[in-house]
Formats: sequence, structure tokens, C-alpha cells
Amino acid sequence: MMKDFRKFKDIGINFSEPEVLPCLYKEDYWLEKIRTIREVFGFKSRVNIKAVDSVEELSDCLGVKAPSWVIGAYCGNYIFMLKYELWQSRNLGTFAQVMTHEFTHIAINSKLKQRCPVWLNEGLALYFAEQYKTIRLKRENISKEDIYEIDYLDNCLYDISAKAVEKLADTYGITAIVKSLGISTDFAEDKILGVENMKRILSEMKNSSTQ
Ligand SMILES: [Zn+2]
Repeated sequence: MMKDFRKFKDIGINFSEPEVLPCLYKEDYWLEKIRTIREVFGFKSRVNIKAVDSVEELSDCLGVKAPSWVIGAYCGNYIFMLKYELWQSRNLGTFAQVMTHEFTHIAINSKLKQRCPVWLNEGLALYFAEQYKTIRLKRENISKEDIYEIDYLDNCLYDISAKAVEKLADTYGITAIVKSLGISTDFAEDKILGVENMKRILSEMKNSSTQ
């Protein structure tokens, strides 16, 4: 027990509810991943995890109404997680994996000079939490030419963003992508992440995806 507390302390994570710790005891892989994200983003601040009993409670914490499907969210240096037993059977990954997704959002935020495009914010979180690995994108799901036009109302936002960032990481390396997060003052004009290059990448994705 003491050893486990030390482990979380070492990666800069605090828990308000110690009862959520057992679902992280066997998740050394993800704890190591959090260490990696800290290194890649140069992110050192402590992050607090608060476990909540319902989406309503989560909405209260955020100060905005969260959609009913939400299981985790972040605000400042806080991650709010719906207790694992409430969504464990929904096949959405482990508590640690979703926590890693939210942690990535906080690390992204710490680097930004301007607002992060939705696709890049979600794509990077899905990349570091390795949720992109289980996504199979169909050609007909890539309905827009410009990834900057896709928002949370689009059902395919997560799938397209995940695959786009996976492709960027394969082509340029994830470190280069994260680096440009911190220096870019206008994402749409960026050489790698900008509208023009992303249109090219999206059309490549479309050509190589299944029908
Ligand atoms: Zn997210």
C-alpha cells in the first residue's frame, strides 16, 4: 500500500479519493506513460484526480453540463473521473487509460500559446492513451475535406482525429508535433499542422481506408 502511494507521488499525481487507487495498482504501464507524457511535453505541475459518482456531479465540478456519455474531463490541473465501477462494463478502456487521455489534455494546455484545434487536442489525447489502436476508420466517415471544420457535434470527430494524429506521428514523429504545439501562433497556417497539409493527409487517409 505505501509503495503504491509513493508511485503516484513520484509521477506528480494526487488523489482526493483513495478508494479509486485499487483500480490503478496493476497499471504500471500507464503510470510509466504519464512519466513519458511529462517528458515529451516538459510538463511538471502536479495534477489532482477527483473521482465522482455521476455525470451530474462531474458537471457541477466543471461548471458546465457534460454530455451523458462522458466518463472523464479536465479543468485546470484537475481531472474528474467517473468512478470505474460505473462504466467498467462499457468497453471504453481502463480507468488508467482514460486518466492518461485527460492527463494529455492538461499537458497540451500547458504548452499552448493559443487555443488548440479540437481535432489536434483530441487526436493527441487518443494517441498518448493509445485509444487510436482500436479505431477502424471507414472511407465514408471522412466526410469533410478540412479537419478544422470538424467539431464535437460530428460523430466521427474522435475517429478522424485519432487517425490523423497517428499519421502525423508516423510521418514527422510525435516529438516534432508536440514541439510545434508550443511554438505555433496560428495552427491553421502551420507547415505541418495547418489546413493545407492536413487536407493532403486527410485525402491520403481517405484513399487508404476501407470502404
Ligand atoms: Zn478528450
